[in-house]
Amino acid sequence: MPTATRLGEKVFRGIPVSPGVCRASVLVLGNRKEEVPAFQLRDEEIPAQIERFEHALVTTRQQIGQIQKQVSAAMGAKDALIFEAHLLLLEDPTLMDETIRLIRDQKVNAEKAFHQVAQKYAETLAAIDDEYLRERAADMRDVCSRVLGNMLGWDYGPDFHQLTQPCIIISQDLTPSTTAQLDRTKILGFATDVGSKTSHTAILARSLEIPAVVGLSDISSQLITGQQVLLDGFNGLVILNPTDQTLFEYGHLVRRQLDLHQKLESVHDAAAITLDGRRIILSANIEQAQDTGSVQAAGAEGVGLFRTEFLYLNRDVLPSEEDQFQAYVQVASALKPQPVVIRTLDLGGDKFLSHLHLPKEMNPFLGWRAIRFCLQERDLFRIQLRAILRASVYGNVKMMYPMISGLDELQQANALVAECQEQLRRDNLPFNDHLEIGAMIEIPSAVLVADALANHVQFFSLGTNDLIQYTLAVDRLNERIAHLYEPTHPAIIKLIHQTVQAAQRHGLWTGLCGEMAGDPSLIPLLLGLGVDELSVACSLVPQTKYLIRRLRFSDTQELAQAAFTCESPSEILARSENLARKAAPCLFKD
Ligand code: PEP
Ligand code: MG
Repeated sequence: MPTATRLGEKVFRGIPVSPGVCRASVLVLGNRKEEVPAFQLRDEEIPAQIERFEHALVTTRQQIGQIQKQVSAAMGAKDALIFEAHLLLLEDPTLMDETIRLIRDQKVNAEKAFHQVAQKYAETLAAIDDEYLRERAADMRDVCSRVLGNMLGWDYGPDFHQLTQPCIIISQDLTPSTTAQLDRTKILGFATDVGSKTSHTAILARSLEIPAVVGLSDISSQLITGQQVLLDGFNGLVILNPTDQTLFEYGHLVRRQLDLHQKLESVHDAAAITLDGRRIILSANIEQAQDTGSVQAAGAEGVGLFRTEFLYLNRDVLPSEEDQFQAYVQVASALKPQPVVIRTLDLGGDKFLSHLHLPKEMNPFLGWRAIRFCLQERDLFRIQLRAILRASVYGNVKMMYPMISGLDELQQANALVAECQEQLRRDNLPFNDHLEIGAMIEIPSAVLVADALANHVQFFSLGTNDLIQYTLAVDRLNERIAHLYEPTHPAIIKLIHQTVQAAQRHGLWTGLCGEMAGDPSLIPLLLGLGVDELSVACSLVPQTKYLIRRLRFSDTQELAQAAFTCESPSEILARSENLARKAAPCLFKD
């Protein structure tokens, strides 16, 4: 539903998928719903229909190959890979066999048979509870229209060559192959009723740098060709008849955001290294295997925290060893040789499995959670450990345990890993003998015994989200005491510092994957405290890298020294933020 704001202005809200702002009159594309003819065949007509179908497949392959070449030349091999997926769909033997079977068994014409099979495929994909696979339904429909077009002589896609004025396209949906061929000088932006951030259409819009908003529900039936709109790809808005005041405000926003976007893009391929040469490993946190593309797009150096519990949530049965193995291999092989730190299961606290019927606890964050749960539910834990170990030969896999509170838990977990390795050897299944294992440091007791832990792991990863809650006795979910949740509390600073020092004494590296790592105000302090790796949400990678590259390590060390003797959390925060603001004022709003 659009909202009426200033006089005559209407705002439509959707999902921003490609940044930028543009203003033009709209070209509304109709929904092409051509009828697919259906008729019965006589026996002797069947071979000719199969031949027509096979001929259409060959022609479609040639056309897609052609588009792939154009896209590869104009936008690079990575974007052209999208069409590789289209070619694979075309070569899918089940799709071909099923169509031919229908033509033969039901004696229906080729286009009717193919349409029926392709629709079934697309509907199955669209119904899967997985955003990535759902979006592949759009690819299937794209390929299907092209094959049908070739059999029926339809024009494929709108012809933008006729356009004399630049415009913004409004449509129910845009196929990836139409999007890939958009001419940026004529199409300033587009907005669609359906779609999501991970659709190939959205990915292409970002590569083409065409501002785009999707998921606007029924915008294509609300607007008519020729109306004036402003499209805001930063915030996901389409504004019909923008007033002078709106245009004035957008002038400022566009300048600021484009400027920031360019600055962040300019460091995309660079390393996170301070002005005086201190190298920080900048990784990303992910929750599911499909996030891998975002890790690469963000310019991160691998994954510092893969929260595997999301593989277990939202389903009725536990994921099998094979399910997990597939997910870990997907991430590890896509990011190879960059590291992927897989965290073993951290269920409990605020993450429950309804079908496991775990007993309700008075203090779930202090209860049967993470490694404590896994060390009691050993069969479940072994399944995950075997999956991680098996995936370790497919890339640079590392593994870490959450919620380690002392040496005993760590040794028990390591013993289970050794047991699983032994089993895999017996089963003749390969794994990396030198897999690095780390302990998350997120309970104060772990910091106090860090020297002992260090003898049994290869790295530490500070989970400050929990470390803060357990040190300050502040429930991380309770809004009423949120003001007491202070990352710059002197106690937290000491604990981070002690962890880093213990790691250094034993030749280990220390990462930090709590939310602190992505807060620009705190990054100078964390650098000064000596952490080697920061792992942040994908969306925060570009600005974190930009900031690190503008800081001096020596300044951050001085800041940390000052923090050691300061009693006030707000003063430490102010000093750290001050350093960040001076280095990168554009990251702060005022
Ligand atoms: C943390 O505690 O800082 C952490 C990264 O783990 P989670 O947020 O998943 O508990
Ligand atoms: Mg934690």
